[in-house]
Amino acid sequence: MTEEIPFLDLKSTYQELKNELDAAYKRVLLSGWYILGSEVEAFEKEFAVYCGVNHCIGVGNGLEALSLILHAYGIGKNDEVIVPANTYIASWLAVSHNGAIPVPVEPDEHTYNINPSLLERAITPKTKAIMAVHLYGQTADMDPINALAAKYHLKVIEDAAQAHGALYKGRKAGSLGHAAGFSFYPGKNLGAFGDGGAVLTNDTHLAELVRKLRNYGSGTKYYNDIIGFNSRLDELQAAFLRVKLSRLDEWNERRRKIAVHYQGRLRQTSLILPLVPEWAEPVWHLYVVRSENRGLLQHRLFAAGIHTIIHYPVPSHLQKAYASTQMTDGSLPLTETIQSEVLSLPIGPHLSPSDHERIIETLCGILA
Ligand SMILES: *Cc1c(COP(=O)(O)O)cnc(C)c1O
Repeated sequence: MTEEIPFLDLKSTYQELKNELDAAYKRVLLSGWYILGSEVEAFEKEFAVYCGVNHCIGVGNGLEALSLILHAYGIGKNDEVIVPANTYIASWLAVSHNGAIPVPVEPDEHTYNINPSLLERAITPKTKAIMAVHLYGQTADMDPINALAAKYHLKVIEDAAQAHGALYKGRKAGSLGHAAGFSFYPGKNLGAFGDGGAVLTNDTHLAELVRKLRNYGSGTKYYNDIIGFNSRLDELQAAFLRVKLSRLDEWNERRRKIAVHYQGRLRQTSLILPLVPEWAEPVWHLYVVRSENRGLLQHRLFAAGIHTIIHYPVPSHLQKAYASTQMTDGSLPLTETIQSEVLSLPIGPHLSPSDHERIIETLCGILA
């Protein structure tokens, strides 16, 4: 029996950090304080510094981070928000939850991120914001996006859920627009041991609003200034995230080494490999290749004990949830082609060199 190689090995994150995580867990449980306390406050400061941004507000998850930003900007009914066609559906859901309309724009064929040259024609008098997603851990091309946003007075919201630590021209994801939403879902580069998220911004007014919105609209306990929500990062997750944040750069570097190795060894195959523009320093949340025979490739890898995932098998506009948009097959052809060909290979801080070698050898064997 060959050993299975999982897509992502999360158990090893605990094993490597066991002493520190156990200490964090005991510290919080013994403190008797579990919601909005010193751990969340400390994590917010540390993550804001890490991203080079003035404010960080811990919230319940990545979807709510994005949704709260839109809400705080007063974006809602009859407004339009430009979103990438090629993204995880959460980017769209945040817009829909506020009653606004997600307006999809096709990606760049090589980077898979939103194509800035297609943006202007998608802007209408109803457009209020552009949601830029840093897909797979590589930032979108932010300069042209920000320039257009300035021209039309639009907000730029980063969906940085896959891009903790990624750089654009030397600047961190999360600091590249008016506000950013992060997710700390366990599988993300900075992952908690449960759900979590954060809003990052230099906009002090927005930060104050989101801080209230996450906590029943309240700044002072039992005094409610606005109609708020309950969306809070909890003390336990914040304590775990502080431990994980101290390893983020090191663990991103491990991912980068794996990606570089994939790039070198898979170059001779028929696979389309990720393209990294010179201004990007991705953190390789996912290592995504493209193949016209994606289904067969995935099947044969699985038969060899190698687990892969498709990100994402059905584009948002073709999901049942968005049937009301009446977009059908062929409405966003590039996104549809990309999503019919992509396959994410195992990558992560705990993928061993021998497993990595086995994946490459198996792939080369299949594709020979
Ligand atoms: C994970 C993810 C989200 C949502 O984050 P959750 O914490 O799971 O709500 C949003 N956008 C993108 C691109 C993601 O990958």
